[in-house]
Amino acid sequence: MPLKAIVDGATIIGPDLSDEEWTRLKSRHKKGLPVRMSCCGNPGHLRISKKGTRHFYHAIATGCNYEQESKEHLEIKYQIYRICKSEQWETYVEFPAPDRTWISDVYAIKDGRKIVFEIQISKISFHDLEERDRKYRNEGIESYWLLDNFLERTRDFESWYHSHLFGQFTI
Ligand SMILES: [Zn+2]
Repeated sequence: MPLKAIVDGATIIGPDLSDEEWTRLKSRHKKGLPVRMSCCGNPGHLRISKKGTRHFYHAIATGCNYEQESKEHLEIKYQIYRICKSEQWETYVEFPAPDRTWISDVYAIKDGRKIVFEIQISKISFHDLEERDRKYRNEGIESYWLLDNFLERTRDFESWYHSHLFGQFTI
């Protein structure tokens, strides 16, 4: 579920709006102001999660990947976005590559460092993970993955982790 939408030709981030701005947008939307999802351009609506996170959802099922994102994904994404911003990183959510070969959950820049955070709650194969991660590495972007229960779901990653990463880092 996206935090971002396009209104009046501008991209807005739900949680960045004040209470007044959100309320005003909601009533303008009710009166017919179009809200477009920034992920796919399809029509969207405004919503507030149980945890109070303002976000947008697709008005109709279109097969967009962002429809699948769970509420956990939304809340984690928002927390990371909030923390990066509070640490004075220039921070973006649902940030697409110029050629749209990837869209990262959170993208942050500071002092020449570029980092992405990816939240992966649903299962992902080692192959897909490596493929997606390589795109970031090729562009000089540090990537951090939050993988839910990943080690329990596939032994592939566990063995890859031990053979490729374990012991490479000294703290
Ligand atoms: Zn979409």
